[in-house]
Amino acid sequence: MQTFEYANPATVQEAVGLLAAKWGQADVLAGGTDLISLMKDHLHTPKRVVNIKGIKEMEGIQKTADGLRIGALVTMDELAKNADVRAGYKSLADAAAGIPSPQIRHMGTAGGDLCQRPRCWYYRGGFGLMAMKDGKSLVPDGENKYHAIFGEGPAYFVSASSLGPALVALGAKVKLVSPKGTREVQVAKFFVMPKDENAREIALQPNEILTEIIVPAATVKSATYEVRQKEALDWPLAAASVALTMNGNTVTAAKVVLGHVAATPIESAQAEAALKGKAVTAATAEAAGKAAVSGAQPLSQNVYKVTLAKVAVKRALLDAVRTKA
Ligand SMILES: Cc1cc2nc3c(=O)[nH]c(=O)nc-3n(C[C@H](O)[C@H](O)[C@H](O)COP(=O)(O)OP(=O)(O)OC[C@H]3O[C@@H](n4cnc5c(N)ncnc54)[C@H](O)[C@@H]3O)c2cc1C
Repeated sequence: MQTFEYANPATVQEAVGLLAAKWGQADVLAGGTDLISLMKDHLHTPKRVVNIKGIKEMEGIQKTADGLRIGALVTMDELAKNADVRAGYKSLADAAAGIPSPQIRHMGTAGGDLCQRPRCWYYRGGFGLMAMKDGKSLVPDGENKYHAIFGEGPAYFVSASSLGPALVALGAKVKLVSPKGTREVQVAKFFVMPKDENAREIALQPNEILTEIIVPAATVKSATYEVRQKEALDWPLAAASVALTMNGNTVTAAKVVLGHVAATPIESAQAEAALKGKAVTAATAEAAGKAAVSGAQPLSQNVYKVTLAKVAVKRALLDAVRTKA
């Protein structure tokens, strides 16, 4: 690991003042479950590491008149166990609880989950975010069994965040603070397809800190269903988060968002349309799953992920309607 300066700010203002205008100069350290590996592998070589764990204003979960305010330092374990999250935002609790390792759930933070770097083995192996060689991506003709099944590049990694799809389905926003001020960004717009190697896969600027997540008051039935290869240290192969507005047994509005299948969470308007005005049954859930993957473009080794994503939608929908209103 390269030597670096270490800063321990006590406030958000102090912390953002220690960041830099360009990526590569300074890195935010939260739980460190991703950043430390990135530094050990020389993928991130910051001159300064800014530890935000001492910033009290970024802790805690509060129920407000408008919904839920989740501090970026809330751990995945706190999120999974919080009574307000479990009662009104089941999809979010499901996503946090789905992370199989107790160590990661206890150390990893919600902010870090949204900002974690892709797990793509080309990126982690030093080939860069776009995995380019001689102007061409190595992924379509390479080892792509865990890569995207949606989109035509230029990057083919999948977003690693399990909270992302749940927060998109719930219409959540993130608060981003820089020395210039504060802005709020819809989680649906926080995840982006990077255009080149110097870009990031999230809409965070190098001198910004994600301080909190704001989830609107939920009157929906929601659930997340993940398909995993093993119940151990791993990420899902495919996942779906759904949020349903119901009138009795009839769906009046639906959000269906796929995770771990593209560089960003993928909201499916087709699946949502397939559910509107209907009750959720095994048949309508199956049809919605089919609609959700209708635009999939799997690579040479990952056609199996299309079936997994379809099944994840069906099971998330059936689970959501089993939830108390
Ligand atoms: C074996 C293993 C299995 C895992 N399985 C899953 C899984 O199934 N699903 C899933 O979603 N995740 C999974 N994770 C990832 C885990 O959830 C993340 O590593 C964790 O949430 C990151 O949080 P952290 O606080 O440790 O972030 P750190 O490691 O401290 O930071 C991660 C990145 O985010 C940046 N960052 C962190 N917080 C902020 C902030 N508030 N503002 C701006 N930038 C910030 C850092 O600079 C760094 O680039 C797994 C991780 C491991 C190691």
